[in-house]
Amino acid sequence: MATNRTFTMIKPDAVQENHIGGILGMMEAGGFRVVELQKLTLTAERAGEFYAVHKERPFYQDLVKYMSSGPIVAAVLEKDNAVADFRTLIGATNPAQAAEGTIRKKYAKSIEANAVHGSDSDENAQIEADFFFGK
Ligand code: ATP
Ligand code: MG
Repeated sequence: MATNRTFTMIKPDAVQENHIGGILGMMEAGGFRVVELQKLTLTAERAGEFYAVHKERPFYQDLVKYMSSGPIVAAVLEKDNAVADFRTLIGATNPAQAAEGTIRKKYAKSIEANAVHGSDSDENAQIEADFFFGK
């Protein structure tokens, strides 16, 4: 995958609250093009695997439970400088610290239920896209 791609999920809280369209709209308005898109529900095992990097963190068990609690939308997005620009568009992990105009400022409910995921590097964008859409 080229470095102009990133991977995102619309998390269970935002899907449950009927914000798929609003969030995809903010992504498109931000200059991102949807390359792959799928709505699905993660098992706890798959959610745990996705967030395995956090498995020693105190919030890991709750995060796995939350991320497997209902449907999510997984997507690959394309734009120049995708990874960094997308992190700017979603805002800080904790919505209390997210900038005005960001997706998390508008839609996130808490530091855990924070509406969206965004890859943190080109390498992880590739790994995460393959996790959902790969071979
Ligand atoms: P993401 O990887 O989902 O895009 P992020 O990169 O902003 O989020 P990470 O540090 O990778 O943040 O944390 C992964 C996810 O774990 C967060 O998005 C959030 O759902 C949850 N999380 C992070 N920190 C906490 C915390 N202190 N308490 C509860 N949940 C947390
Ligand atoms: Mg992260």
